[in-house]
Amino acid sequence: MKLLQEKIRQNGKVLSESILKVDSFLNHQVDPQLMKAIGDEFYNRFRQDGITKVLTLESSGIAPAMMTALNFGVPFVFARKRKSLTLVDNLFTAEVYSFTKQETNTIAISKEYINREDKVLIIDDFLANGEAAFGLLELVKQAGAEAKGIGIVIEKAFQSGGKQLREQSIRVESLARISSLQNGRVEFLEEVNYEQTAI
Ligand code: 5GP
Repeated sequence: MKLLQEKIRQNGKVLSESILKVDSFLNHQVDPQLMKAIGDEFYNRFRQDGITKVLTLESSGIAPAMMTALNFGVPFVFARKRKSLTLVDNLFTAEVYSFTKQETNTIAISKEYINREDKVLIIDDFLANGEAAFGLLELVKQAGAEAKGIGIVIEKAFQSGGKQLREQSIRVESLARISSLQNGRVEFLEEVNYEQTAI
């Protein structure tokens, strides 16, 4: 996706060989025009799949998930990471190790919001080792729903998550795939040909 690659090139900060900071448009300040384009792109890629619910993880998945759900005309649900006084029982839960925070969180959704009739599209901001994605898939499985695929804004293809998910025949659609963050530079797996690609 051209717009996203440009944004990453212009505003992304390479913090180390494995971490990209995108606080200026995705993880702290949010660019709504870009989120709209991201929502449109996920909709185009999954429009044939009868999606009834979009599922993400708080907090950085919320903006792209909401724009995607808006296109499908369905609700989105964000799994919560922290214990909440209002989210106490009747829950599906999974354990997720956070790559950036280096801690394990229990993620949870209420059983009320995903059920066995649902066809679920999972959305997240980054894919690294796949912990968050596998945790969200586990919630869908517990609900008896069907996971139709995973939409990722930025995949770090040099980490193992994408490979592991695709090896299990899970459909993963990533809008930007980074092959390397070495020497302070972002390299993409597929450089978008700016002259031929509309988005
Ligand atoms: P995974 O669970 O696939 O190992 O990592 C994905 C999660 O970790 C995402 O939800 C995202 O919040 C965070 N994450 C992983 N790598 C990065 C990164 O390079 N930059 C940022 N900003 N977040 C990341």
